[in-house]
Amino acid sequence: MTLTRLILNFVQRHRSAYASAALMLFGIALLTVWLPRQIGHMVDGLVTHQLVGAALWRELGLLLGAGVLIYLLRVGWRLKLFAAAYRMGVELRESLYARLSLQGPRFFQTRRTGDLMALATNDVDAVEMASGEAMLAGFDGSLTLLLVVGTMAFGVDWRLALVALLPFPFMAVAFWWISRQVHDRSKEALERFGDLNDHVQETISGVRTLRALGLEDRSSQRFAELAGAAADAGFQAQRWEARYEPAVGIALAVAMGASLGLGGWLVWHDELTVGQLTSFGLYLGQLIWPMFAAGWVLSLWERGRAAWGRLSQVLDEPLAIDNDGTVAHVTPGEISLRNISFAYPGSTQPALDDLSITLPAGGTLGVVGPTGAGKSTLVRLLLRQWQPAQGQIEWGGVPLADHTLQALRSAMAWVPQEPIMFSATVGENIALAKPGASQAEIEAVARLAAVHDDIQRLPQGYATPVGERGVTLSGGQRQRVAIARALLTDAPLLLLDDALSAVDTETEHRILSHLREQRVGRTVIVISHRLSALADADRIAVLRQGRLTELGTHDELLARGTDHSWYAHEWRVQQLKASLDAD
Ligand code: ADP
Repeated sequence: MTLTRLILNFVQRHRSAYASAALMLFGIALLTVWLPRQIGHMVDGLVTHQLVGAALWRELGLLLGAGVLIYLLRVGWRLKLFAAAYRMGVELRESLYARLSLQGPRFFQTRRTGDLMALATNDVDAVEMASGEAMLAGFDGSLTLLLVVGTMAFGVDWRLALVALLPFPFMAVAFWWISRQVHDRSKEALERFGDLNDHVQETISGVRTLRALGLEDRSSQRFAELAGAAADAGFQAQRWEARYEPAVGIALAVAMGASLGLGGWLVWHDELTVGQLTSFGLYLGQLIWPMFAAGWVLSLWERGRAAWGRLSQVLDEPLAIDNDGTVAHVTPGEISLRNISFAYPGSTQPALDDLSITLPAGGTLGVVGPTGAGKSTLVRLLLRQWQPAQGQIEWGGVPLADHTLQALRSAMAWVPQEPIMFSATVGENIALAKPGASQAEIEAVARLAAVHDDIQRLPQGYATPVGERGVTLSGGQRQRVAIARALLTDAPLLLLDDALSAVDTETEHRILSHLREQRVGRTVIVISHRLSALADADRIAVLRQGRLTELGTHDELLARGTDHSWYAHEWRVQQLKASLDAD
């Protein structure tokens, strides 16, 4: 969609606001055209001594009344129009947010957070200006131009009007050239601002790491470079915008000189009165606004177009995961993966290679294997953050892709290794997926996740703020809060992706045995590096380099012996380590 179409759509939906603003502008334009005529008429009356006494006061009163009315109408249109333009900003931000929340990891892997934030602020502002100021200045300017030129030609003298308009085609060419430059420079300025924003966002999120590595100076230097580049690009755009003014000035000066020359000649030959020439001069002065308006409109429009180009790229980017499924409820049942293969974009190595596993409803599957074996990828495919390139995943006999994303996401509770705490209280962080959960429910799941005692020891218990503006929880506490959060949803499938890596062995055991007691009949997939945590799982899958190399119960895998089983070997190593640690 082009910017013109976007704005036309919007104007159509808010036509009453735009129509009343346009009506008020029309009133202003009429009054503005009437004023010089009235002044010219008064000058002629004063020169011939006909305008005296009460008549003079009445005429002056009319002038004053018109001035006040113009003022009121100007306030009125601004109120109408800018309210509509702000609405446009809100709508754009809403659609941008909605789109971003539908996008998958592939999108966020290739886009920079700071730049996306810049789109929601700077770029939306630029489009908002194009739908507000630019639209109305354009309307007001063209209306005034038509009325003024019409009155100059038909109300005063068409020969004078013709001569006065001669320089304007040259000005139009200059405008065209300048606006092309403004477009390119504005785009550059928006991009540089995006870079700057990105650096700030990254620096603030990673401030601890930067300090720990002593990189503050280098980061400040980089900031100064980016800020300089952003300022430079903004300055270049402004420089080009500033060139509209001299173009208007030159055109008007030439018009004024030519019309005064011809006007003088006409007065000399009694074809024009001095009053008419005065009116004409005033009309010419009134052309300043439409000319400046044209320059202003063009620069706002070009800025808006540059911003819309960037915004629409993000809004139109296809979703990485198609959301065409129609099944709105998951029927929990067997989960089966058949011949799944998947590679991340840009990677030649498959992250999963011809993987087939079935998991009966209510079963517990442990997934183990060396780092980079594809364990998390398996979970991401189940969550439909990514789609397999080949193979089929079914849940309860229905292909995963046939469900709506909403249905799938509410049927799965996922706990990643590094869960996010939001700026809210611990209690609210647990109740995230079930707003309105009672305190008793929250405490019950916190007990299951073995984090209740830790929370009680926090300064304000469950009401302690955490996240960016609150206390910092330890990695293990965050993981357990996230498990409590997942348990509260009571989803039929729980995915723990190395979700207890920062918790000690004993607590991990305790939490997993709580899960087994509480989640009877519901499926759990647990990824863990600690094999002892998974010994009770119904089945254990060993992944290596994206392939399923072993599948069985703990005892079955151990029985294969350390020479033939990665699991048996790793189990032995971990047992030895544990006994050494105990000594
Ligand atoms: P595991 O969870 O077993 O440690 P992963 O499933 O995270 O392994 O990763 C499997 C392989 O895919 C690894 O080689 C990893 O480098 C690669 N990989 C993981 N995530 C991405 C990603 N977002 N983009 C590209 N490659 C990835």
